Amino acid sequence: AAAPMFRRVALIGLGLIAGSMSLAMRESGLAGRVVGYARSDETRDVAREIGLVDEVTDSAAEAVAGADLVVLAVPVGAMGAVAAEIAPHLAPGAILTDVGSVKQSVIEAVAPHIPAGVHFIPGHPLAGTEHSGPRSGFAGLFRNRWWLLTPLPDSDPAAVARLSDLVRALGANVETMEPAHHDLVLAVTSHAPHLIAYTMVGVADHLRRVTDDEVIKYSAAGFRDFTRIAASDPTMWRDVFLHNREATLDILGRFAEELFVLQRAIRMGDGQHLHDYFTRTRAIRRGII
Ligand code: NAD
Repeated sequence: AAAPMFRRVALIGLGLIAGSMSLAMRESGLAGRVVGYARSDETRDVAREIGLVDEVTDSAAEAVAGADLVVLAVPVGAMGAVAAEIAPHLAPGAILTDVGSVKQSVIEAVAPHIPAGVHFIPGHPLAGTEHSGPRSGFAGLFRNRWWLLTPLPDSDPAAVARLSDLVRALGANVETMEPAHHDLVLAVTSHAPHLIAYTMVGVADHLRRVTDDEVIKYSAAGFRDFTRIAASDPTMWRDVFLHNREATLDILGRFAEELFVLQRAIRMGDGQHLHDYFTRTRAIRRGII
């Protein structure tokens, strides 16, 4: 096992991402002690039962006391409130990061609460599954995935380097990015696709006659692959769209235009257009491993 990189790590929220971080850090001895805060009795009970963290607490203040790394791993819309709650209890010199799927709004909500001397370095692991909650984590979640950091202009480079080292030790590749750019890129690669998957399930639901039976039975024809992500946590995704509003609206507008052009080609029987389009998109898609 590696020497611990942090003495005491506080995880605020114990879902998929925090749970996976804890399992990965404990497996490889990266943290002296991992303390997990969860709001609900149920989450705390599960965390204890499966030994997700070294210590479970119902007090966010207690969790962060003396921690040299604090990770906010709650839905994006809850980041500001938890930051306000823990701020007075943060240890000087601690690194505070978050794992939220949106960066600009989290920075706006969290940064004003953070006392001088605490290093706030926002982040986002591009790793996830459609599962959520304290039972869904696994140590390998971050392996060979990107983990984007969006440091603030005044972030301490040494603290950024220290967090980057941890992220690499979890198996991820680190890249730094401007928060606004992050939010636009993620709107294309993650947020809009989730919304479109949700609507596809909604469309199937309109055709109740079909959904009850045939859609499930024959889902391997595309529906199953395409809509896997529509099983994701509703609170998390509500917050993503409320907090990355401009970028997702921009991408959805472009998506609608694209869809209309294809719809028109189908109506007009323009096979050339469809074939050219699919040839181009196939080449792009095949370039993604
Ligand atoms: P999750 O639903 O598995 O866990 C979130 C946890 O936060 C739950 O235990 C929930 O009870 C708790 N919580 C919710 N509101 C809270 C509040 N107000 N105060 C305290 N605790 C609260 O979700 P997750 O997938 O671990 O997501 C956590 C964060 O990571 C989110 O910000 C999400 O955007 C981000 N993220 C998710 C994924 C993914 O694919 N699931 C990937 C990267 C980043």
